[in-house]
Amino acid sequence: MKYTYAQFKKDFPNDNACLKYIFKARFGNNPTCPKCKKTNSFYRMNKRRAYACSCGYQVYPAKDTIFHKSSTSLTSWFFAIYLMSSAKNGVSAKELQKHLGVSYKTALRIAHKIRSLMKQDDSMLEGVVEIDEMYVGGNPKRNLRKRYIKKTPVIGVVARNGKARAVVVEEADTRNALKLLKDNVKVGSKIMSDGSYLYRNKLEKLGFEHSSVKHSKWEYVRGNVHTNSIEGLWSQIKRSIRGTYHSVSPKYLQSYVDEFVYQYNHRSLKTSSLFETLLVRLCPQHGLKENESVAWWSLVSS
Ligand SMILES: [Zn+2]
Repeated sequence: MKYTYAQFKKDFPNDNACLKYIFKARFGNNPTCPKCKKTNSFYRMNKRRAYACSCGYQVYPAKDTIFHKSSTSLTSWFFAIYLMSSAKNGVSAKELQKHLGVSYKTALRIAHKIRSLMKQDDSMLEGVVEIDEMYVGGNPKRNLRKRYIKKTPVIGVVARNGKARAVVVEEADTRNALKLLKDNVKVGSKIMSDGSYLYRNKLEKLGFEHSSVKHSKWEYVRGNVHTNSIEGLWSQIKRSIRGTYHSVSPKYLQSYVDEFVYQYNHRSLKTSSLFETLLVRLCPQHGLKENESVAWWSLVSS
């Protein structure tokens, strides 16, 4: 079931609802005042993003969240999270600017902050794992000074029918490839690659099994040896950067890669949505599972 816009509007109609969500997600359904120890004694303060206890103690729920010190309304922030979790190819800052009625600079900042919720986790991949590298950007035709613009390399791993990881690197070399494997893939996994020299005769020493297809000899699939899963991820990233973002500076490329890896890793969500998983990451203190935030909120807010 997809989380629809109608449902979003119903769940988060105004700033009050959004702040209440953050407050309850961070401090619990029945918050206790740390000063006077009373429970459920908080009320919403007028004209401030704050709650106060009857004893005078104040809580600013948005502190230390991505909304901290932002003058943009929480409704706009939540809407931006909704938009970014609904668009498969990402949402450009221009589009956010248009939908939220904020400046381009603000839209850009909001997008980066929301993307920061999509950081890759550090659980280890296992089983059959594909590794590959890609290059992004560096179109010399657009450079008026005709200077050579270096493309930015990205190396990634995808577990078959499982999760992905991808990192922007200085060089697509063996050292970085081995580091990615060591950090993200369990020893003993079966690694699939193309015939690139990056991986040739290097992975066995680390305890991985290794098979490769020779793209240079027009071999793309041999039995279950192929790199189709990671190539699917690469083409999704390239399509989105070309279509939505047009170009991405190397400095921000990792956060865009994070966004698409996040989408990829949640591609099979059926009963919840990306929006829901992002709400969970917004207030990790709450300890909700990835598909629980909306159900929890509909209980709390009613
Ligand atoms: Zn109190």
